[in-house]
Amino acid sequence: MTTERNRKPVGVWNGTEIKPGESRNVNLAVSESYSGMTMKIPIHVRRAVEEGPTLLVTAALHGDEINGTGAIRRLIQDEELKLLRGSVIFVPVLNLLAFDRHSRYLPDRRDLNRSFPGTSNGSVASRMARTIFDELITRADYGIDLHTAAIRRTNYPNVRGDLTDPKVKKLAKAFGCEIVMNGKGPRGALRREACRAGCPTIILEGGEVWKVEPGIVEAAVRGILNVMRTFKMIEGEPVRAENPIVMDKSRWIRAERGGFLQFHIKPGDIVRKRQPLATNTTLLGKERSVLVSPFNAVVLGMTTLPAVSPGEPVCNLGRLPDDIDPTDLKQLRNAGHIFEDRISEELGSNIVVVKPPDRVRSSTNGTR
Ligand SMILES: [Zn+2]
Repeated sequence: MTTERNRKPVGVWNGTEIKPGESRNVNLAVSESYSGMTMKIPIHVRRAVEEGPTLLVTAALHGDEINGTGAIRRLIQDEELKLLRGSVIFVPVLNLLAFDRHSRYLPDRRDLNRSFPGTSNGSVASRMARTIFDELITRADYGIDLHTAAIRRTNYPNVRGDLTDPKVKKLAKAFGCEIVMNGKGPRGALRREACRAGCPTIILEGGEVWKVEPGIVEAAVRGILNVMRTFKMIEGEPVRAENPIVMDKSRWIRAERGGFLQFHIKPGDIVRKRQPLATNTTLLGKERSVLVSPFNAVVLGMTTLPAVSPGEPVCNLGRLPDDIDPTDLKQLRNAGHIFEDRISEELGSNIVVVKPPDRVRSSTNGTR
């Protein structure tokens, strides 16, 4: 747990003082460029007059994942957002060196999000990670880190966190996303190491790289505001998904043959066991193989590039718990979940989704 000894005050940043009730921009020097210039992360800090929790919201830890950057910008520009208590630290771009290259990785090809908590005498990534950890994580009570799918993939919005930690569970619930994936995250990931250091942190996965997508920005903003409302940092009641689903397991379904995919599902779809996901065809349209779902699932993510080789990932399925029936779930979503449906439709508009041929539908029905 974070002790008082290594907690840093939210009101003092390298000589700049931010008093209760003030909002200020500060810069955090994290590295130096090849030309010797100091690389500084721009940060927006808002403090309420009344004391309360400090929430850290970060984006573009993978430098090409900028949906969260768009979401944070919207919140910073929102002049109606009046903080009643506590503080918010907004970091629109955490990995400045990677962001400047439109890249997931640092110039030394390392993944900053596998380098936490870092060391002061290690690699470029490790040193940056250490500075970020010492200057940001140590000032925060809770963290929300915004991500997207990796290159050539898209994600239906889902929150990820270690639900065995009651504070993380509370934070994930407060965010109010329909899908919550339970897990610690990989070693060296910011959220895992922040949790270990006593700063409960969740991530949002949503959308694609290199884009600021309306539905994903809305999902991120809604979740962040929900957290702030739950912690009484701002006025208002949270607007959450009515039927949140917690899942422990997910699996990438991979292509069995090389060829050109025709998708039968879109991100966010709820699928039954053995439901066709995609048909692999030759370039002249001849069917080669049909991929089906191995279990009842929600489509968390999928490729946006329909040309695949054997073994390449096609879609990422979150496994529905046995006590949840996919048909019931679909009905619940159709009945009230206009927001979730809309985002799924929006993400699906980027790909061609067709019904599987009748023959395929009958042949895969219960036979695999
Ligand atoms: Zn990421």
